[in-house]
Amino acid sequence: MSSERPGGPAGDRPRRGIMFVISSPSGAGKTTLCRRIISEVPGVSLSVSATTRPIRQGETDGADYLFRTSAEFEEMIDRDAFLEWAKVHRNYYGTPRAEVEQRLVAGMDVVFDVDWQGARALKTQRPGDVVSVFILPPSIPQLRARLEGRPGSTAQSVAARLAGAHDDILRWGEYDYALVNDNLDTAFSELRAILIAERTRRVRAALGRMVDRLLAESQPPTAGPA
Ligand code: ADP
Ligand code: 5GP
Repeated sequence: MSSERPGGPAGDRPRRGIMFVISSPSGAGKTTLCRRIISEVPGVSLSVSATTRPIRQGETDGADYLFRTSAEFEEMIDRDAFLEWAKVHRNYYGTPRAEVEQRLVAGMDVVFDVDWQGARALKTQRPGDVVSVFILPPSIPQLRARLEGRPGSTAQSVAARLAGAHDDILRWGEYDYALVNDNLDTAFSELRAILIAERTRRVRAALGRMVDRLLAESQPPTAGPA
C-alpha cells in the first residue's frame, strides 16, 4: 500500500474512495491480481476479510485473512461487525465494517476479494461506491491446473472449488466489468485501467473547486460585434 494520499488538487477535499469489488471462480487469479493492484497502484488498500477456513501454507493471519473460530465469527455477526458475510465452500467469510468507511472518507480506494454473494450485498448497500469486476479463467482445464498448482491444495479442495465454478460463472452478468485472466500482465493492465478510469469519472473526481478557480481566472467570452 502506498502512503500517497489520493484526491483532488489543493483546495479540493479528497474524492471519496472507490469500493473495488473483485470476484471470480476460485483459482482464476483474483488474489494474485488484487495483491498486485495493492502493491503497484498508489492509494489502494485491501479489505482483509474474516474467515473460519483453515489457514493455507504461505498465508499470514491479519494480512491475508483474519482467521477466526466459528464461535468468534458468530459473535461478530451478532454485534453487526460485518458489512456483509456469507458461507462459501462450507466456511464463513465476512467483510469487517471497521476501517472501510474511514478509508473511503479519506479518499483511499478499497479492494474487496469477495464471492458473488458479497459483491451483490456490497452493491446493494453502497451502489454509488462500488465498481465490480468479474475475472474469468481462460478455460476449465486451466482453472483446474491453477487450483492443483496452488500450495496446500488437495484433491478434495480442488474438486470442491471446481464444483462451485459453474455457479460462480453464472453470476458474471451482475458485474460492471469482466476480463479474462489468461496472460497475467495483460489482465493486470486491464484491471488497473478500470480503476484509473473510474477514479476520473467526473462525478467522483473532486475537481469542483479547481474548476471554479480556473473559471475565475479565465475570461468569459465577450460578445463580438453583431
Ligand atoms: P483465486 O484467488 O481466484 O482463487 P489465485 O490468485 O490464488 O486465485 O490463483 C490461483 C493460482 O493460479 C495461483 O497459484 C496463481 O499463482 C496462479 N495464477 C494466477 N494467475 C495466473 C495466470 N494468468 N497464469 C498462470 N497462473 C496464474
Ligand atoms: P479462498 O478460501 O479461496 O481464499 O476464498 C474462497 C471464496 O471466498 C472466494 O470466492 C473469495 O472471493 C470469497 N471471499 C473471501 N472473503 C470474503 C468475504 O469477506 N465475503 C464474501 N462474501 N466472500 C469472501
